[in-house]
Amino acid sequence: MKIAMLARNPNLYSHQRLVEAADQRGHELHILNTLRCTMNITSHRPSILYDGQPMTGFEAVIPRIGASITQYGLAVLRQFEMMGVWPLNESVAIGRSRDKLRSMQIFAKYGLGLPVTAFAHDPKKTEEVLKIVGGAPVVIKLTEGTQGIGVVLAETDKSAKSVIEAFRGANVNILVQEFIKEAGSSDLRILVVGGKVAASMMRTGAAGDFRSNLHRGGSAKPIKITPEERSTAVRAAKVMGLNVAGVDILRSNHGPVIMEVNSSPGLEGIEHATGKDIAGKIIQFIEATAKPGRTKTKGR
Ligand code: ADP
Repeated sequence: MKIAMLARNPNLYSHQRLVEAADQRGHELHILNTLRCTMNITSHRPSILYDGQPMTGFEAVIPRIGASITQYGLAVLRQFEMMGVWPLNESVAIGRSRDKLRSMQIFAKYGLGLPVTAFAHDPKKTEEVLKIVGGAPVVIKLTEGTQGIGVVLAETDKSAKSVIEAFRGANVNILVQEFIKEAGSSDLRILVVGGKVAASMMRTGAAGDFRSNLHRGGSAKPIKITPEERSTAVRAAKVMGLNVAGVDILRSNHGPVIMEVNSSPGLEGIEHATGKDIAGKIIQFIEATAKPGRTKTKGR
């Protein structure tokens, strides 16, 4: 197969592994720098030019679109979809997953476990927001944040109010959540590929940090998950419409709660922690599934 991968940095571990896995299985994987793709938006004949060359003959496209270029990246992916190229994750599904608030509303609609979460735009509503989540300690997060940046733990109502006011002053959207203390600075990263759990690990934050992100110095180990955690992860990927998803879950007193679902999960942490060939599983899933007519949304 001829496969395109939309990615900016060809040297990233995840991207190199996907190239290697495709190669091992006899496919041709071309890395296209998303920002160097130009689109010709003509009725009936959508096309993409890359350094002036028309991109043709691809059967599948792997989107690895960074959060900072979501809008342009999704436009390029939609263009591939309109050209009949099968996407590993569809543009509409990625768009959903990039919006934390929208994602949480979808999980709530399908009855998936979530931390009690409140959201308000009006700074005068601070008291109300704190009341909804049961008062401090609370976690306050930027809806646009990634890698644990912009996630703050406020231990008292007073500090929660100052943090909320500071964020509001910066005119950014925030979520306020109950603090799941019993998770003990750990979370589960469950990797779902094609509706099945491909691997799972437990990440634990560096000493003194309640955030478990590996980018923040956390460590990872393989973990056996419960059937409830498994079904939560698989359903979370399904309701988002993602074939490949990294589902982050906290173990709370009221069962597994979803933190977020990542549509371009990194492979380095999970392959090292579990010793599994996730890149190979992704390529095998593409082989078994990629068909021009199988794209559900084509950007709409
Ligand atoms: P990001 O998308 O920036 O990684 P997350 O919402 O996943 O932000 O939060 C980062 C980390 O902080 C999580 O992996 C988890 O360890 C911790 N965390 C986030 N929200 C809560 C919460 N409500 N209770 C306890 N820990 C939390």
